[in-house]
Amino acid sequence: MDQKDIDRTRYFELKKQLEEASRLYYKEGVSPMSDQDFDFGLKEMEALEAKYPELRGNASLTQRVGSDLTNDFAKVAHAVPMLSIANVYSAEEMAEFVKAAEEGIASLDERSFDSEQSSSLRMTAPNSHTWICERKIDGVSLSIVYENGRLKQAATRGDGAQGDDVTLNALTIADIPEYFDAKKLKIDPSEIPQGTFEVRGEVYMEREAFERLNEQFILEGKKIFQNPRNTVSGSLKLKSVAECKTRPMRFFAYHIPDSNNKTHEENLLQLKKLGFHTNEYWKADTVDEIMKISEQIGASRDSLPFEIDGMVVKLNDLAMQRALGTTSKSPRWAIAYKFKAERAYTPLLSVEFQVGRTGAVTPVANLAPVRLAGTTVKRATLHNFNEVSRLDLHYGDTVGVEKGGEIIPKITDVKKELRPAGAVPVTAPEKCPVCGEPLTHIDDEVILRCENMHCPAQVQCLFEHFVSREAMNIENLGPALIASLIATGKIKRIPDLYRLTLEDLESQERMAKKSAKNVFDAIAASKERSLENLLHGLGIRFVGRTSARNLAKHFRTLEAIRTATVEDLQNVTDVGERIGKSVYDFFHTERYTQEIDELVALGCPTEFKGVVKTLFQGQTAVITGTLPSMDRDEARKLIEENGGKVSGSVSKKTSWVLAGEAAGSKLTKANELGIPVHDEAWLLAQIAAADSGDISGEKGDTPKATSGANGQLSLF
Ligand SMILES: [Zn+2]
Repeated sequence: MDQKDIDRTRYFELKKQLEEASRLYYKEGVSPMSDQDFDFGLKEMEALEAKYPELRGNASLTQRVGSDLTNDFAKVAHAVPMLSIANVYSAEEMAEFVKAAEEGIASLDERSFDSEQSSSLRMTAPNSHTWICERKIDGVSLSIVYENGRLKQAATRGDGAQGDDVTLNALTIADIPEYFDAKKLKIDPSEIPQGTFEVRGEVYMEREAFERLNEQFILEGKKIFQNPRNTVSGSLKLKSVAECKTRPMRFFAYHIPDSNNKTHEENLLQLKKLGFHTNEYWKADTVDEIMKISEQIGASRDSLPFEIDGMVVKLNDLAMQRALGTTSKSPRWAIAYKFKAERAYTPLLSVEFQVGRTGAVTPVANLAPVRLAGTTVKRATLHNFNEVSRLDLHYGDTVGVEKGGEIIPKITDVKKELRPAGAVPVTAPEKCPVCGEPLTHIDDEVILRCENMHCPAQVQCLFEHFVSREAMNIENLGPALIASLIATGKIKRIPDLYRLTLEDLESQERMAKKSAKNVFDAIAASKERSLENLLHGLGIRFVGRTSARNLAKHFRTLEAIRTATVEDLQNVTDVGERIGKSVYDFFHTERYTQEIDELVALGCPTEFKGVVKTLFQGQTAVITGTLPSMDRDEARKLIEENGGKVSGSVSKKTSWVLAGEAAGSKLTKANELGIPVHDEAWLLAQIAAADSGDISGEKGDTPKATSGANGQLSLF
C-alpha cells in the first residue's frame, strides 16, 4: 500500500466514524465521541481533502453543517442560512483566523460597500478591528422569528438551510418573550421591531436543573441524560408540549441575522432592551487581547451555573461581517475558541463493577486522587467492557482522565510505557458482584447484565415487574412510589407489599390521602388475580408471561407446581428444559420458598382461575399462503390460544388447513388427502362464536370440533 492508499483508507475510516457520530448527536442526542475528538477528526479530513481534492464532495462533513432534522416536525426554511461557527483550539489558530479576516477586509474593494458603510470602513485602519468576545454556551441554537413584535415561529438549526419547527416547545421557555410589551420593557413603542425580526440564540439548561432532572429520571426508572446539552436537544424535540414544560430550559440571545444596527454590540444591547437575556461580552482589538479574555473566561468556567465550552469571537462591525461573507459552512467573521478538555494522568488503583438498577454491570475505575478542572477526581467511568478492551486496561496502569461537558470524568487513554511489569489485564467478571449469579452478555456483548431479578441491586426492578400489568397488575403503584417506599424502608421483599398499611402509604412524600387509598385498594385487589399472574410476577429466571400461563394452566395450583418434579415441569407446553430447571430451582431455594409461604399466608393467588379455551382442542392445523388481515404468526397464536396445535406440514394427522392467497404445495397436498381447507374469515367466525358462547359441537364443520367454553369468563 502506498501513502495515497493509506491516506484514502484513513479518510474513509474517519468519514464513517464522524458521520455516525454526527448522526447520533443530531438525531438521537447522544455523543459517542468528545467534541474535541470530532473536531480533530474533521480537521484531519480537511487536511486529507486539501492533499487529494478528489476526495472532496458536497456530501462531505467538512463542507456542510450537521443535520438535526427529524421527521416529527414541520420544516422551516431559514431566511438567512443558519451556519455553524468554525472552531480553533490554540492561540496560533486564532491568530491565523484573525489575520485572514483582516486581510480579507483590507483587500475588499470599496465598491462592494454602499456609501454609508464604506465611510465607516475607511475610518477604520487595518489591524485595528474590534472583536467582541462572548462565552460559548454549550446548548442548542434556536432561531426565533417575530412578526410585528409577536413570536411567530421558532426553529432548530436543522441542516442550516431548513430546521424543525419547534415553536410550541420554545414557548415553554420563560426566557423567550412571546411578544414585546413596550410598557413592561419600559421602552418607546417605536422601538418594537416591526415586520419580520429574527433573533438567534442558545437554548441551554443550568447544571443544577440538569442534575435535578436526572435524579427525578432515576427515581422514575427512565434513562438519564448524558449532559445538559443532550437534554436540551432532546427536550426541544419532545412531541408532548406538556412534557417539554417540565424541562427547565433557558435562553440566551446572541444574534440578529438581519439587523439595522451598525455593530454586533448594538445588536446585543437591542436584544437586552427587548427583554432577552444576553451574555456578558468583552471587546478586544488584538489576538493577544482575545487570548487574555479567553483565559479569564476559562478561569471562571466552573463558577458559572451553566456549561460553556469556549469563547465566541465576532467581528464587531456588521458591514465588515457582510462584506467578508461566509463559506458553505461557516461565517468568515466569527470563530469559536474551544477549551481543550482538561486531562490529567494518574494511576488506576482498582476497578469496581457496579450493578445498576436494571442489572447492567458498569466498570468504574478507582484512581489515585488527582486535581482536574477545579475538582479532585477519584473515580471515572469506563462505560462498558468494550471500552476496557479498547484501552487494553491493566491494573496499575497510569491512565488519562478527562472532564468534558459530562459530569462524570472518563478515562481516555493509557500510558502503556508506564505499565508495571507483570500487570494483570482488567477483565469482565463472570459472576454478579452483588448476588453471585452468572452474568449474561447482551447487545453484541457491549453490556454485561445480571438477569437475576432478585439480585439485591435490582430490587426496584423486581417490584416494578411484580406490579406490572402482565403480572399482579397493581395500578397506581408506579416507579416513583416504589422508589420512595424502598427508600423509606417500607418494602424490602415482595411480601412487604401486602403488609403496607394505609398510613405507610400516606406518609410517602407527595402522596395525597385519596391516592394512598387507591394504591392500598389496588394492592388488596391484586390478591384476586390468577396463579399465572403471581408466577410471572415472582421474577423466576426465564419465566415470561407465556410460560407462567402454561405452567398455571397445566398444574392448576401453586402447591402442584411446588411439588412437581423437574421432569414434570419440563414437559409442560413451551416450558422445556431450561425454564423447567429454573422453576424447579426457584421453588427449592430456601429464601424464595420462605417468600412464597409468606405470600400464600397473606392471601396471594394460589389457583389458576382462567378457563381453558377448548375450541380447537385435539386439532392440528396447518397454515399456508398469505392471509388477508394477519400474518401466519398471529394466526398460529389464535389457534393455539383456542387449544389447537399448528404444524408445519400437511399429513394424514392434519385436522384442517388454513389457506390464504398464493397457497402452494401444502394446499395441493391437503386436497389430495381430502383434508378440510378453511380461510381466515372462517377462523375468525369460529373464534367469535366460541367466545360469545353460541357455538355447539354440531355447528363446527370439522369432525373433531368441540364446543368452546364461555370466552367471557376467560382471563386471557
Ligand atoms: Zn446480581
